[in-house]
Amino acid sequence: MSRETLNPSNIILPGSLLGVMGGGQLGRMFALEAIRQGYMVAVFDPDPNSPAGQIAHQHLCAPYTDPEALDEFGDACAAVTTEFENVPAESLRRLATLTRVAPGADALEVAQDRRVEKTFFSKAGIDTVRWQAIENEADVAAAVAEVGEQSIIKTATLGYDGKGQRVCSGADEVRTAFLELGAVPCVLEQRVDLAAEISVVAARNDNGEIACYPPGENVHRNGILHSTVVPAQATTARLEEAQDCAVRLLEALNYVGVLALEFFIAKDGQMLANEMAPRPHNSGHYTQDACASSQFDQQVRALCNMPLGDPRVQGAAGMLNLLGDAWAEGDPDWPAVLAQAESTLHLYGKAEARDGRKMGHINVVSQDQAGVRACLAEVSKAMKITP
Ligand code: ATP
Ligand code: MG
Repeated sequence: MSRETLNPSNIILPGSLLGVMGGGQLGRMFALEAIRQGYMVAVFDPDPNSPAGQIAHQHLCAPYTDPEALDEFGDACAAVTTEFENVPAESLRRLATLTRVAPGADALEVAQDRRVEKTFFSKAGIDTVRWQAIENEADVAAAVAEVGEQSIIKTATLGYDGKGQRVCSGADEVRTAFLELGAVPCVLEQRVDLAAEISVVAARNDNGEIACYPPGENVHRNGILHSTVVPAQATTARLEEAQDCAVRLLEALNYVGVLALEFFIAKDGQMLANEMAPRPHNSGHYTQDACASSQFDQQVRALCNMPLGDPRVQGAAGMLNLLGDAWAEGDPDWPAVLAQAESTLHLYGKAEARDGRKMGHINVVSQDQAGVRACLAEVSKAMKITP
């Protein structure tokens, strides 16, 4: 009997096996949430010691393109989601012939290539930075003429945490950076004079129901997210506009699952979309402790065709990322960290603490932003992280 005849409404009930492509921390937090709700979890990740693989019921350890492994996974799982945007689209298409896959390959393909992504944003009425594609050295001069002297060059595909990008001034630096990046297809972006960065996390299910979290205000260091505070400091109109953009994007993609949309707010007041992530996002981790339904809870619900949960935040919240750097002198002083009553520790089970590696995060909930910032400062001090 097929799953459809067993389950005419297509709802996937607790007890079913849910699959996740990728075994990083986002997969781990999805698995924890799914397990809390009574599901079984299978992780697909080539790394035998992945953060999610450690805690899942099943761990299929194979390359993301292995056809037999994909078929085995698709046969076993009642539905499959993904925790990183670079899962090969062809692998998701193969899985989709065997099981429910959400989000689908089409949405991932948009996020996998910055050129496709920015073009899609514009079509959906979402403003982006000025940009130009650079495919070979001959494109550099025209791109700089369009974008301006102050720019950032980024590889069109496979970048994350600020990797695969270079800040440039003028055409000569762009040319050098393009060659340093391996002369692969790139985008050249106008370098925005940033007043702030915000992001919106939102979920959508098959019925078109949407749950949108309040935008978070993000601070990056060395291209990596450092902290998030909610509510973001911006006008109500601005915050609503950011949420409207996320809703338009979900609808334009006919998206099912959780998605994040990152924005730059320029000093001249413009709000410009940077990029999307077709999955829960580091800037949405605060929802684990500040909302009735976290971004991972919504990921489970959307995947299983369930009604979405409540995305409202009571008071204010924040998140501090714990990078491997904080382990430089051995294990952090956990009792000092946990002494902060408004904070919650989340660690990802990574054995080796390398500089810049995301080891965990600390969430903070408080009555207002001032309370959140004060607690984040205390937690940073306990972690010996410069606030
Ligand atoms: P992540 O995976 O962490 O989101 P990423 O590698 O995809 O990172 P981006 O989001 O494109 O990279 O850039 C990382 C950070 O670098 C941004 O959040 C921002 O702080 C800065 N940055 C990137 N592009 C620009 C730009 N055009 N103008 C100004 N700052 C930028
Ligand atoms: Mg980003």
